[in-house]
Amino acid sequence: MAKRSLKSLEAADRQGGFAALEHPYDSWLWNTEELEEVQSRPGFMISTWSFCCFGAPKPRWASLLHNSPRVHQALHRPKCNCNPSMEVCDDPERKAAESRETDEYPWRFCLAYAEAIMADLKSLMIPPLGTAQFDLPHLLYNQIMGSARGMQSEDLVYKLVIEVEQMVRHMELGDERNHLINLARHLKLKGTDHQLLGPKELANGREMLIPYPAFRWRWEVQIAQAWPSERSVRVLEVILLLAELNRRARSLRNNGQLYINIVNSELCLWAINKGRSSSLRVNRVLQKLITLTMATGIKPIMAWTLSKWSRFESGSLEPSA
Ligand SMILES: [Zn+2]
Repeated sequence: MAKRSLKSLEAADRQGGFAALEHPYDSWLWNTEELEEVQSRPGFMISTWSFCCFGAPKPRWASLLHNSPRVHQALHRPKCNCNPSMEVCDDPERKAAESRETDEYPWRFCLAYAEAIMADLKSLMIPPLGTAQFDLPHLLYNQIMGSARGMQSEDLVYKLVIEVEQMVRHMELGDERNHLINLARHLKLKGTDHQLLGPKELANGREMLIPYPAFRWRWEVQIAQAWPSERSVRVLEVILLLAELNRRARSLRNNGQLYINIVNSELCLWAINKGRSSSLRVNRVLQKLITLTMATGIKPIMAWTLSKWSRFESGSLEPSA
């Protein structure tokens, strides 16, 4: 019976919940292997107290195996307050006799226990109900996990969070120039391939793009117009890149310049980087793009971001910085 309880403790802990098992202080349970196994899990602890310290008429010692620092703080009283000379380790026989009595839980004990659990649960919930404060890595993890194809693996998302967090920490207001210089320093030039953020290679050999934290920038609309005809999204996306290149090519001042082009379509990024696509229609646009690049020396450096991180997603406009 107790062993089954221990199993369910482990299960509750694994799901991120509060898990606790109370037994008399002198119970054989505290010396079993199964208990030691649960206790060795990170976050588990044993709190010990006598009910007299919570208003019971006489001492009765109990212990609780659990995973909440708040409960430990509220209940752990290894030295009796009512009778300071009485410590948990003296006179085991007397305490054993006392702990076998089954008295009601004193009201003050119930209150202290319940308040500690409630504070714990609140700390797991976000405001306004709870008090949870997510740090940057946790927020990024929640944003990236499941946000794009292939972003379902925990290991992969952890790796991406580390990269993105480093970038976000260096994207301070007023320090934009340094951020761009830093990015340029890491620019990967491989033949005609210009990559702003080298993709992460996974154990299975697949390459995964690091999403650029585009949400840190303030975006303004430079060009916007209705599509002249209905075409596949892939073609339209590349036409959009051509339109931006055209806009820049109109001024001689821009000749020979590199600029960062952030897109939320991986296909689009690979097509531009490789200069070719399996789609004939995309290829036709790419040819124009490459010709213009060769003539003017203006070249887009591609970066990829999550759809939810690109401000103009709803207007189907790709921002370019
Ligand atoms: Zn006491």
